[in-house]
Amino acid sequence: MKAIYTELKKALGEARVLEAEPLYKYSTFHLGGTADLFFRAQESQDLLNAVYLAAKFDTPFFVIGGGSNLLISDKGFRGLVIKNETKRIKFVGAKGGKEKPVGQKIRTGVHTVYIEVDSGVSLNRLVRYSLDQGLSGLQYFLGQPGTVGGAVYINAHNMKKGKFFGERLVGAKLIDKKGKQKEVAGEYFKFGYDYSILQKTHEIVLSVVLELIVGDREELWLEATEVINYRNTTQPHGVFSSGCTFRNIPKSDAIRLSTPNLTVSAGYLIERAGLKGYSKGPIRFSDHHSNFIIHSGGVKASDVLELINTAKKRVKDAFGVELKEEIVLVGEF
Ligand SMILES: Cc1cc2nc3c(=O)[nH]c(=O)nc-3n(C[C@H](O)[C@H](O)[C@H](O)COP(=O)(O)OP(=O)(O)OC[C@H]3O[C@@H](n4cnc5c(N)ncnc54)[C@H](O)[C@@H]3O)c2cc1C
Repeated sequence: MKAIYTELKKALGEARVLEAEPLYKYSTFHLGGTADLFFRAQESQDLLNAVYLAAKFDTPFFVIGGGSNLLISDKGFRGLVIKNETKRIKFVGAKGGKEKPVGQKIRTGVHTVYIEVDSGVSLNRLVRYSLDQGLSGLQYFLGQPGTVGGAVYINAHNMKKGKFFGERLVGAKLIDKKGKQKEVAGEYFKFGYDYSILQKTHEIVLSVVLELIVGDREELWLEATEVINYRNTTQPHGVFSSGCTFRNIPKSDAIRLSTPNLTVSAGYLIERAGLKGYSKGPIRFSDHHSNFIIHSGGVKASDVLELINTAKKRVKDAFGVELKEEIVLVGEF
């Protein structure tokens, strides 16, 4: 083992660092080689420490949340993988009083609640917590895999409802590349479709503050149940995948191609390029949702990459559109 790894391991606590840990276990795609070093961050302080020490010992690091948007190389990751398992949800404030919004009746009591959530909290646990508390704003994300950190990184969305996770975020604690903590307001993230500034800065989310609106618990659960039912009928299940492979196409391309209802769906173009259900051995574009690559075992990350490149080429040749990956490629390909 490299001398620098020995030092890093010692600093992180030898018993807590695994060597040559297989990463497929931490990805919903169930693919990927080993990490040289692997560390579970169970508390915020662990996450802060791990990033700081990786920087101090000049070791590349990668933070995995739920692993639901990754394609990890067969060669794995040379450096430290930090699995984010931080888990705290904390009430931090409320707004309310006696108010009369224009055109509405006088209302009293709390109407807005602020919660601070660790980045390792699973999105599903957070949504269920908010629904149980009768808090509105996250019901569109019930059933969506991943953690809060991953949801911020990509600005997780429910396209059917036109809702984005970033809309609820009013502040955050981040860790910069040197392991230093800083606080930012929601605007810092410059959220857009499949975009947050983190994709450029490579900062790590420690926790976020979300603004939620007091609502009716029963109604919120009903709305969330509709969301999950829709998800179940439109997405494949019982197979390994990382969700949508490609980002939606620009509106200008949808207009140029006169797609039905000007859909910007990458899946539509994949289907039109004749790739719906297209397979290479046990791996395929889903019949259910053409933007999902799915398999049930016995494949390599390099096979997925081959399918990705096939789709890019076919769609470029047929429609002149460059598909861009939504999934994050980890390690060397
Ligand atoms: C079956 C299925 C359905 C899906 N449906 C949807 C959907 O409807 N809508 C949608 O938007 N997405 C969907 N996805 C994709 C995925 O769930 C989201 O992209 C999710 O937000 C990823 O979160 P994660 O914690 O799993 O991130 P990971 O896959 O672990 O990581 C993804 C990226 O985020 C970064 N990251 C993770 N944690 C942090 C952190 N704390 N700070 C900074 N960066 C971090 C990672 O380093 C990596 O670059 C689906 C995926 C699957 C498998």
